[in-house]
Amino acid sequence: MSESTIAAISTPQGSGGISIVRMSGDKSFDIIKKIFKPINNRALDKEKDNRMMRYGHIEKDGRIFDEVMVNFMKGPNTYTREDICEINCHGSMISVRDILNLLLDMGCELADRGEFTKRAFLNGRIDLSQAEAVLDIINSTNELSQKQGLKHLSGLLREKIEEIRNIELEALSRIEYSINFTEDGEDLPVDNIIDFMQKAYDEISKLLATANKGKLVKDGIETTIIGKPNVGKSSLLNVLLNENRAIVTDIPGTTRDSITEYINLGNLTLKINDTAGIRETHDEVEKIGVQRSKELAEDADLIIAIFDRSRKLDHEDKMILDMLKGKNAIIILNKIDLDSKISKIDFDDSFKIIETSMVSRDGVDKLEGAIFDIFDSKELNKESLMITNLRHERLLNSSRKKLESSLDDIKAYVPIDCVEVDLRSSYDDLGLIIGETVSDKIMDKVFREFCVGK
Ligand code: GDP
Repeated sequence: MSESTIAAISTPQGSGGISIVRMSGDKSFDIIKKIFKPINNRALDKEKDNRMMRYGHIEKDGRIFDEVMVNFMKGPNTYTREDICEINCHGSMISVRDILNLLLDMGCELADRGEFTKRAFLNGRIDLSQAEAVLDIINSTNELSQKQGLKHLSGLLREKIEEIRNIELEALSRIEYSINFTEDGEDLPVDNIIDFMQKAYDEISKLLATANKGKLVKDGIETTIIGKPNVGKSSLLNVLLNENRAIVTDIPGTTRDSITEYINLGNLTLKINDTAGIRETHDEVEKIGVQRSKELAEDADLIIAIFDRSRKLDHEDKMILDMLKGKNAIIILNKIDLDSKISKIDFDDSFKIIETSMVSRDGVDKLEGAIFDIFDSKELNKESLMITNLRHERLLNSSRKKLESSLDDIKAYVPIDCVEVDLRSSYDDLGLIIGETVSDKIMDKVFREFCVGK
C-alpha cells in the first residue's frame, strides 16, 4: 500500500452537471470527515457510510465550497484497494478546482496520470493487461473496441497468458529436473518436452492471429478516399461526417492537404485519410498530393474509389482502377442525379459497386453495408478474445521467436541448458504482458498514456 493519499479531478475539464473529485489512500476518511458537513448533521461514519452517498456541504473555516454528494468506499474492496472518497460536486471549473486545492491543503498529493489505476495494479487487484484495458475502454470509439476492452478487463487475456505460461512451465520444470538431478541430462523426456513447447507455440500463434482484426477494431479501419478532382470525395466525407469539416468546392484540386477524420459506423470505426485529387499533374504542390494519395492507398485497409457517373472514364480514372487491384475496395459511381455516361458494367464486378448522389444522399447508406460485408463485422463480433494492444503483440511475437529457437535447438540435440535459456526468456516475455516482471520504465510508459484522475 502507498504511503500517500492522492487526489485528482476524475471527470473531464469544463462545465457540466456534475464533476467528481476523487481521493485514494489512508488519509481519505480523516480528510473528508474534517471538511464534509452533512445536511442531516449525522456525522460521517467509516462503517455505516461505507459505499453510501451522503448529502451535504464541503466547508472549511466557515467557507462553503459547494453543495455535494460524498461517496466513501472503504478498502480493500475498491478500485485501488485503498480507502477511496469521491466528491460529486457541481460541474463548474471553480468548484472542482477549489475542492481539489482544499484536498491538497489537507495533505493529499496531486495524482499522476493513471495513478489510481497504477495503484490498483501495484496493490494486486488487476494485472497490467487489465490496467491497459481500462485505458482502451476510456478511449474506445466503437462498440466492438469497448467490448474487447471489457473482456481484457475481466481478466480473459491474463487467464490465456497464464495458461500458456503454465504449459511452458511444464517443459521448463522437466528440463530443470534433468539438469539438476540427472547426470548429463540423461533420462530427459525429450518428446514429452517438445510436445509441451509445441502446444505453447500453437497457442501463442492462435492469439497472434487475432492481432490484425484487433487492430482494426481498436484503431479503426485505415480508409482512403480516392478519385479524380470534382468526383465528390469531399462531399462524401462531409455526408459521412455529417458536418462540414472538409472543404467542398468547384475548383479542381483545392483539397490539397491530407486530412484524417474518424467516422464511427456502429461496430467499426473508419479512420479516413482524405487526399488531394489523384491525377497526373505538373503542379508541384499537387504532385505531392498525388504521391501521398498513392502511398495512402498502398497502406490502406480499405479504399473507397469514387467516379463521376455523368462523365466517361478517362486515363486518370483507369489509373485509379489499377490501384484497386488486390485491395479491399469499394467503387462509388457518384452523381446519379445527373445523366449517366457510364454504368456498373464498365467495372470489374469483383468489387462492390455502389451508385450514389451526394446531393440527394441516395445510396450512401449502402456504403455502410458494403464496408460491413468486407470486414465481416459479424465475425469480428463473435471473436472472443483479440490482441488489440501493440505492446502485447510485440511481446507475443518475441516470446514465440524465442520458443521457436528453443524448439529448433532441442530437436537438434543442442545441450539442454541452451534450450532452457531461450525457453525461460519466452516465458518471461509472456510475464511482461501481464506485468509480472515489469520494470518501472515499462510501467511508466503504460500509465503515462492515461489521463489524470483515472
Ligand atoms: P472532390 O474534388 O472529389 O472532393 O469533389 P467535391 O466533393 O468537392 O465535389 C465537386 C463538385 O461536385 C461540387 O460542386 C459538389 O457539389 C458536386 N457534387 C458532388 N457530388 C455530387 C452529386 O452526387 N451530384 C451532383 N449533381 N453534384 C455533386
